Amino acid sequence: MSDSHLPKKFLQILKPRLPLMLATLRRFVIAESPSLEKAAADRCCGVIAKEWNKHGARVERIAQKHRGDLLRITHAPSKSRLSAQLLVLGHYDTVYSTGTLARMPFRVERGKAYGPGAFDMKAGIVQALFALQALQQAEIRLRKRLVFLWTSDEEIGSESSRKFFEAEARRSDAVFVLEPSFGPRGLLKTARKGVGEAELIVHGRASHAGLAPQEGINAIHELARQLARLESWNDFSHGITINAGMIEGGTRTNVIPERARAVLDLRALRVSDMRNLERRLHALRPLQRGARLEITGGFDRPPLERKMSASLFARAKSLAKQMNLPLGECTVGGGSDGNFTAALGIPTLDGLGAVGGGAHSPREHVLINTMPTRAALLAALLATL
Ligand SMILES: [Zn+2]
Repeated sequence: MSDSHLPKKFLQILKPRLPLMLATLRRFVIAESPSLEKAAADRCCGVIAKEWNKHGARVERIAQKHRGDLLRITHAPSKSRLSAQLLVLGHYDTVYSTGTLARMPFRVERGKAYGPGAFDMKAGIVQALFALQALQQAEIRLRKRLVFLWTSDEEIGSESSRKFFEAEARRSDAVFVLEPSFGPRGLLKTARKGVGEAELIVHGRASHAGLAPQEGINAIHELARQLARLESWNDFSHGITINAGMIEGGTRTNVIPERARAVLDLRALRVSDMRNLERRLHALRPLQRGARLEITGGFDRPPLERKMSASLFARAKSLAKQMNLPLGECTVGGGSDGNFTAALGIPTLDGLGAVGGGAHSPREHVLINTMPTRAALLAALLATL
């Protein structure tokens, strides 16, 4: 069979499986899995492992001390000694604490499946599972080993899982990230901003505002001037933003404040802009004589530059076209684990997961009719790369 028939073939297999996909999604969603509650997350990990175990792939649970265990599933064609590998990456943790399910139950209404983490990103894990089933049923001779890695701390910065998925990404020719797509048309995320946080503390000198104003160095005034300078660095047209999200300082109105502090959100679309922003930030000097600045922090996630996803997106688009599915792309301001894998130089395509909306809110939902199509698209990518 030529590759050009594959997406349609997968779709034929997967369309009748929508009820099964929804039943699986329900099982995943009712196993609540907040990033910060290990016991609950581990239970969800077990539920997901059980589903993947049904399909003859090798399922390994990687124990974690403080976060939910990671799940690595390997599917390699029998007797093969394939060295090349493709990585499918996602997370099963959610931003909802245990008990959210009581006021936000799993339900399917008018073509939408609701529930905590349904869209971000348990439906993505379901789609990947059914993509693997479709590959097996169609008896596709794979060119590369497939590794699926489900992590447990993406929503809180991926501190404990990062070294695992980075190691897996380094062994891979491409990374497919099953984070939700964007908007009702399901745009893939071909570029993501790098994201960081920095803290700026100004140290001045306290004094009586009435009796000895000349002896004081006002930390709040200094901070205000520094923030005006930082604000001028914003460059929306190039995707560079700096946002003072929190400030504090001072004690009483008649005291010249000796300390003031701001916490900044930093974003950039290009690695060069990220580095430049960090350099400028750490090179800040006080404007008032005697004031002292203390600057810490920087970028936590580098940008996912579009050049890292361009060729994978072109392939996805042409495979989607064979199912009469128009596929678009977008740039988003938020980061994912795809930012890390792209920064390693591994081609990365993100936003391949569910189509829906309302992530991190009570309105979170998946458009259920898109699930077989998206699973077919993933299966086609894995079969042809
Ligand atoms: Zn997510």
